[in-house]
Parts: sequence; structure tokens; C-alpha cells
Amino acid sequence: MAFEVQQGQIDNNLLITLVGDIDEEAVFPALTNLSGDVYVDLKAVSSINSIGIRAWIMWFTEMPSAQLNFINCPKAVVMQMNMVEGFLPQGSQVKSLQVPFYCENCDEEKDIIFHVGKEILIQGGQVQLKYNKDSICGDGCEPELDVNESKYFRFLLNGGQSQAA
Ligand SMILES: [Zn+2]
Repeated sequence: MAFEVQQGQIDNNLLITLVGDIDEEAVFPALTNLSGDVYVDLKAVSSINSIGIRAWIMWFTEMPSAQLNFINCPKAVVMQMNMVEGFLPQGSQVKSLQVPFYCENCDEEKDIIFHVGKEILIQGGQVQLKYNKDSICGDGCEPELDVNESKYFRFLLNGGQSQAA
């Protein structure tokens, strides 16, 4: 899917929505004068490769005055947050991310948006998940987390993420 950067507003703050594949074809527009709270919605990012990662890091480095808040981060992006040093810009916050579940009963994968500070709590240097299984699938279903919990949420415990209070 072709890469696109859309701009909008959320609660009187700038909202940047990234769409598609972040790869060698992706062109990031110059947005160097940003300051204050900026929200970056990633739900429509379909993939990111190593060249895209470099472009991503350079782009966000060019907006040091922006307080970046990442929302709706898909699994492809969460993986990079965990693996790539410096992928999350300094001082940025991840507000919400997709959490993959699998329900054997329905034979279905479901990506559920969890919010840091709501379903994802950081307590005593550990990530605690607080959610109602019934809200993920049907009655009598036992949807299981489809990722390794200690690995998937590890980036939230690194210094980059200021406390999600
Ligand atoms: Zn189910």
C-alpha cells in the first residue's frame, strides 16, 4: 500500500496519520516547525522495513520541539519499538497500541487497542494487563494473548517512555 502522511486535528492538537508501507518508497514531508503535543496515529501502517526505520528515525529527529504521542500502534511498529534502539524518539510517549489476541473457539485473530494507563498498567517496573475477556470475543470464549507478554510490552519499561501517569 502506498505510503501517505495525512494531517488533521485531535483535541486541538496536530494529528499526523501515517498510512501504508514505510519502506524505500516512503516520502516523509518536511514538518520541522512542530512544537507542543503532536499525536501520531499509526493504525494504518501496514509494514515497515529497515530503510523505512531509518527514514522514520530521521524524520522524527527533525522535530525536537514536538511532544510526540503515538496512538494505535500496530504490531509491526511495536516490534520495532522493542528491537530498534532509538526507534522511539526521546521524550515521546506511546498512548495506545494494538494487542493481538487469538480465539480458538472462533478460530479468529483479533487486534484490540489497549491504552497505556488503562488496560496496560506499569507497576513496580512491570507491565500488568487489566481487561475483560468478554469484551474481546463472544460469550464463553477464551481469547488468548497472541504475543509473548514480557517481550511485546518490554519497550514500555525502557527509559524512553516517561511514566504513563
Ligand atoms: Zn471467540
